[in-house]
Amino acid sequence: MSATWRNWGGNVVAHPRVVTDTSTVEGVVGAVRSAAGRGLRLRVAGTGHSFTPLVATDGVLLRLDGLTGVLVVDRDRMRVCVAAGTPLHRLNPALQALGLALPNLGDIDRQTISGAISTGTHGTGVRLQGIAAAVCGLVLVLADGSLLRCSAEESPEVFEAARVGLGALGVVVEVELQCVAAFRLHARESGESFSAVLEGIHDLADAHDHVDMHWFPHTDRVLLKRNDRVAPGEGPGPLPGWRRRLDDDLLANRLYEGVNRVLTRAPAATARVNRLSARVLGAREYTDDSWRVFCSSREVRFVESEYAVPRASVVPVLEELRAWFERSGEPVPFPVEVRFVGADDVWLSTAYERDNAYVAVHQYHRMDPSRLFAAFEAIVAEHEGRPHWGKVHTLGAERLQALYPRFDDYRAVRDRLDPTRLFTNAHVAHLLDA
Ligand SMILES: Cc1cc2nc3c(=O)[nH]c(=O)nc-3n(C[C@H](O)[C@H](O)[C@H](O)COP(=O)(O)OP(=O)(O)OC[C@H]3O[C@@H](n4cnc5c(N)ncnc54)[C@H](O)[C@@H]3O)c2cc1C
Repeated sequence: MSATWRNWGGNVVAHPRVVTDTSTVEGVVGAVRSAAGRGLRLRVAGTGHSFTPLVATDGVLLRLDGLTGVLVVDRDRMRVCVAAGTPLHRLNPALQALGLALPNLGDIDRQTISGAISTGTHGTGVRLQGIAAAVCGLVLVLADGSLLRCSAEESPEVFEAARVGLGALGVVVEVELQCVAAFRLHARESGESFSAVLEGIHDLADAHDHVDMHWFPHTDRVLLKRNDRVAPGEGPGPLPGWRRRLDDDLLANRLYEGVNRVLTRAPAATARVNRLSARVLGAREYTDDSWRVFCSSREVRFVESEYAVPRASVVPVLEELRAWFERSGEPVPFPVEVRFVGADDVWLSTAYERDNAYVAVHQYHRMDPSRLFAAFEAIVAEHEGRPHWGKVHTLGAERLQALYPRFDDYRAVRDRLDPTRLFTNAHVAHLLDA
């Protein structure tokens, strides 16, 4: 009997024939050889925080939950090698203990490092890049069970393809990361008028290290988060424990879950409730270690679609989205998130050679997201939108080839490394095979 696997959002369910857990590289090699020998396909699962069916398989599902930890530290170059299954919530404090940090992070820390880079996970900051841009070396187990080490100097083409690799080139077992010295962030969060913020959005993005906006649909309210690096001792203190628990645990999670459940039955109240939500998540200001500011706990389940658009398109995209909400009245309790990330050189990164704004729409998991996602996708299609690989979208190989200048180079590496397509599934084939 096959097992059942579900992603975090609950929108992807799979029934793998075999689930293999391993905590060693030899175990990975064994699982790959065994799958190939039995004619089964193999997909690696991180913590299942992707909303796209990247992990789904009816063959072998390989879990690396035990393949964790910091393996090597190069203090002079501020680099670390970590085992691929290491979750960010364990990596961040381990780096802190070494006086190091990742330069930028997304808004949660539950993902594995290999899962995060494989889909191009990013945070926000016009002068910063996504997590994969901090990768300076990888070790992969290939389809024939051999090990390959790659970096800008060693097998550079594989390195460029595998930093955001979609799990389609091999199993990543080790990740080398370029860190920075541990730093603190001064966080300022406030409720603002969305229209006023839109008017000055580019100045705002340039003026702060990290800008993150949560606009509540059907309202003119936005929760604006501005985080700036400060020297030790500068800025106000950290949030008291009770305030963090009140904001994150009670308001953002427990109460919010209740609100969403009510709106599922009474969607007509969405606009009124959104105005209230925007007010409740009020102003706060504090300073803390970077990773404690970047990441918070997200317990209320939702599904999400996120697209990167050229930075210059952010206002038109948001205006068009606002007009669609007004026209359709679609009940969407979750805020639309807006972030900014600078260009990088990672072949399948959404920020490949392009300064981007990221616009993300979310829907509560018990509500139907299809109209929202379809309307959003139609809007960003007019702005060369590149979908986040881990968030719901419908684009296939033909469109993706037009959006990614190095798409065919990536596919050539894949043809070489995995000619028999051991590491594929229906979704990966839709993305990559013309
Ligand atoms: C609540 C929430 C908040 C989020 N916030 C952000 C955010 O702020 N910014 C952002 O960009 N994204 C965000 N995401 C998306 C998330 O970061 C990505 O989907 C990420 O890929 C999830 O990592 P994971 O460990 O769960 O990997 P999974 O979703 O389990 O897997 C993702 C991909 O990685 C592959 N993979 C995993 N490990 C390996 C390996 N060792 N070797 C080869 N392939 C591997 C899998 O096969 C799959 O293709 C969020 C998601 C959720 C649910």
